Amino acid sequence: MGFKVIVESSEAKFSASHFLKEPFQCTRLHGHNYYVSVEVSDDLDKNHFVVDFTDLKQNLRSIVKPMDHYILIPTKSDELEIREEKDSIEIITVNKRYVFPREDVFFLPLPATTSELLAKYIHSKLKEVYKDKKISVRVRESKSTMAVFEE
Ligand SMILES: [Zn+2]
Repeated sequence: MGFKVIVESSEAKFSASHFLKEPFQCTRLHGHNYYVSVEVSDDLDKNHFVVDFTDLKQNLRSIVKPMDHYILIPTKSDELEIREEKDSIEIITVNKRYVFPREDVFFLPLPATTSELLAKYIHSKLKEVYKDKKISVRVRESKSTMAVFEE
């Protein structure tokens, strides 16, 4: 495997709110501008591509776009109780209670919405399309911090 293609984060960014579990300061509701970049490695196909850049950009955007300007809620957390009401979502944490409009929430099948797990989630969605490729996903949540998942 000598070839790799890279889509830089300017192609895939999203803004979202989240909170993490105690005892971190991130337990308060806050937001990030997330920048996602992807590397795909493989041999070349019959068109001499690792993957088609246009397809890769579109696929990546279609994964991150549904999270853009939403409140990210992890549905596999042991520490959150999630109650769906008619038009609202009630979230009960160890010591807090949030109520959000249903239309503002994006559920993620994750135990937490850390950048590490967001990278893994985006990776899993890309892997549905690029099953046999080695994929590396980087999620940058600030100028100096990013998480990577690759497999
Ligand atoms: Zn955060």
